[in-house]
Amino acid sequence: MNLILIGAQGSGKGTQAQLLADELRLKPTASGELLRAAIAKGTPAGKAAQPYYDRGDLVPDEIVVQMILEDLENLDGAHGIILDGFPRTIPQARALDQRLSERGQRIDYVIYLDVPKDILAERLAGRYVCTAYGHVWNIRTRPTRVPGICDYDHSPLVQRSDDTPEKIARRLDIFFHETIHLLDYYRSQGKLIRVDGTRSVEDVNRAILATLLPHGVAPSPQDEQGAGN
Ligand code: AMP
Repeated sequence: MNLILIGAQGSGKGTQAQLLADELRLKPTASGELLRAAIAKGTPAGKAAQPYYDRGDLVPDEIVVQMILEDLENLDGAHGIILDGFPRTIPQARALDQRLSERGQRIDYVIYLDVPKDILAERLAGRYVCTAYGHVWNIRTRPTRVPGICDYDHSPLVQRSDDTPEKIARRLDIFFHETIHLLDYYRSQGKLIRVDGTRSVEDVNRAILATLLPHGVAPSPQDEQGAGN
């Protein structure tokens, strides 16, 4: 089972991808995380990507596609993949479809987390990530128990370098002008599922699982109890 989560920055797709990966035993792959790791390590791809990343622009397709397809080579024992932040352009979507079909696989469902632009801007301004694993928190909508410290791994929280007001505006603009076309691409393939992303993390997670259930997708047994509470 292979899923894609599409949503603007601040729609909660990173958080939902982490939850769904655990519940459905999928390997999570976040293009933004892979890029941040490559930039931090100073790999050739990271160096090429950095100027685009720093401006809040899309990194060229060939760099991102190569990085993602390499990451998908090894499923680490998972039942499939859940992609977060990729694809963001039609050429990326086509490259992904082609690679999966070469392996006799395909994307099964694409979940669009729908959140209006004004709510997104407000959420992004309050967003913090942990320095150890990039777990995402929000001082307004998803605070940690101890301010400034990740609940999961106790590492300090920081604001992302591209979460400044100008870069947020630029990234949202790109999403609503460019990435939004992917919805038509996947709608025409009959794979698109729209979920209202304005509700709480738990409610959105429940809504996603509820929409997948009629398609035969259910959490693995040991997670079912937690998901139902
Ligand atoms: P994210 O963490 O998903 O918000 O991504 C952070 C930044 O990484 C974006 O603003 C882009 O510069 C870059 N990026 C992430 N995913 C992609 C992608 N699929 N295509 C192009 N650039 C990307």
